[in-house]
Amino acid sequence: MDGAAPKTLGHIAPDVFEAEFDAAASAARLRRRRIEVKKALLDQGWISGVGNIYADEALWRARLRGRRSGDSISQRKAMELLGHVTDVLTESLAVGGTSFDELYVDARGEAGYFARELAVYGRAGQPCKRCGTPIVREVIGDRSAHYCPKCQK
Ligand SMILES: [Zn+2]
Repeated sequence: MDGAAPKTLGHIAPDVFEAEFDAAASAARLRRRRIEVKKALLDQGWISGVGNIYADEALWRARLRGRRSGDSISQRKAMELLGHVTDVLTESLAVGGTSFDELYVDARGEAGYFARELAVYGRAGQPCKRCGTPIVREVIGDRSAHYCPKCQK
């Protein structure tokens, strides 16, 4: 760390479980931005608490490509994505994790509980659980991103 906070941290947005979180307002905020939706998910200025694995899994469930620009997504689709984000986080917490990313690899460095449940993260070249198309890994920003090139648009 060089001590300089990223400028997006000037405003920390609520996470999806906080009472002040407003899904409709958050969806509308995404739709005003020319930012790749994957980057937006990891940007604590939009919603807080979404790690890289959660983002890939939620995008797959929403059938959305991470490279899509926020301003190209319908309100309905943005709301749907936020619903999937909430589900993924809820499932992670249900198995005792505070961090989905921590659950991916257990204390012995082996694939943890959630690794076996993941649809896209870490599955490059393996068949999509929905359509069988091989999962593709790409880099968005400086983070790895995994998606199905057929069923995510
Ligand atoms: Zn697919």
